[in-house]
Amino acid sequence: MLDFETPVLKQYPIIPLIQPGVMAHSKPYVAKPEIQGKIGFPEELVENWQEVAIKKMGELVSKSRALRVFLDSCVKCGACTDKCHYFLGTADPKNMPVARQDLFRDVYRRYFTFAGKYFPKLVGAKEMDKEMLDDWYSYFHQCSQCRRCSVYCPFGIDTAEISMAAREILDSVGVGQKYCNEIIGKAQTIGNNLGLREPALLDTLEGLEEDIEEETGVVVRLPLDQKNADILLVTPSADFFAEPHVDGLIGYAKVFHAAGLSWTLSSHASEAANFGMFIGSHENMQILAMRIRDAALDLGVKRIVFGECGHAWSVAYNFLNTLAGPFDFLDPNYPVPQHICEVTYDLIQRDLLTLDKSANDDKVLTFHDSCNIARG
Ligand code: SF4
Ligand code: SF4
Repeated sequence: MLDFETPVLKQYPIIPLIQPGVMAHSKPYVAKPEIQGKIGFPEELVENWQEVAIKKMGELVSKSRALRVFLDSCVKCGACTDKCHYFLGTADPKNMPVARQDLFRDVYRRYFTFAGKYFPKLVGAKEMDKEMLDDWYSYFHQCSQCRRCSVYCPFGIDTAEISMAAREILDSVGVGQKYCNEIIGKAQTIGNNLGLREPALLDTLEGLEEDIEEETGVVVRLPLDQKNADILLVTPSADFFAEPHVDGLIGYAKVFHAAGLSWTLSSHASEAANFGMFIGSHENMQILAMRIRDAALDLGVKRIVFGECGHAWSVAYNFLNTLAGPFDFLDPNYPVPQHICEVTYDLIQRDLLTLDKSANDDKVLTFHDSCNIARG
């Protein structure tokens, strides 16, 4: 049971949202065989899964120096313990970022360090057994890879990277997560997470054009697949479906229109979010990233701008160039990718966007990074 009297927890008292320990055996649904197979993973737990898991871990730690550094450098200072929303919500000690990392670290030590191989008990090294596999599935899927804990770690240890590696290993032995893997399959075949096909996208955009005209009396276009536009806007498909009126497509369209920018959306790259990151699969991340590159080339745009989504931005900013670059066919005067907030800020700075301050007379000065745009 968690000791609430430790100095860190006394300093930042925790009020668990649910009873401690209740989530201990909580697991997301395991992906069905056909979902796994569709995106290139074994359909179910392979017979020699321990061997496959250790081999995959070996590949990952030899390929990623960052991962090795993260595994080797934790001093158990505890600064990260109360920084994870899963821990705050569940008060389950295994949801502390350091404990989550240790699930991976203990196995890494057992198979890839001298001390762990010969004196496992002395260094807390553990076997990759079925109990460990189940713990991995439960706790690495209770990490949203938000990177909040890494901001507070004096060594910058990034639990998200460790979670990504663990999930990649889980997928490689045939135990994937239903939600992410089903979405990846849809995005790879249709182009977006919601499975919206071109006619549905077009229909939404036409409806939004009518709404804007009705509201403002101004004809504002929301183009799809327009060749030779300057900007390719890549935005989460949720913007088409869930919240187009609140902060999504209508807002973007108004900004581009007011600033006189030429832009387009793409039916081929109609998804900014890249769920490949959530399962740590480089190959799957690359397939989605390449759709954006292909759309940019096909449409002949000069810039790529990402709409609002912290996760999408995190993948784009950190990985898009590695996954799908070089983008030497784009205008070198703009970064690749660019965030819609950067575009808007730049337009305001250059007086290309005039704001009616009287429309918002309450001053609000606040910075939230709940969606991890800044950390991304
Ligand atoms: S990356 Fe976010 S969700 Fe994952 S352990 Fe750290 S704080 Fe928790
Ligand atoms: S803050 Fe960093 S060094 Fe300290 S326990 Fe957490 S991961 Fe380890």
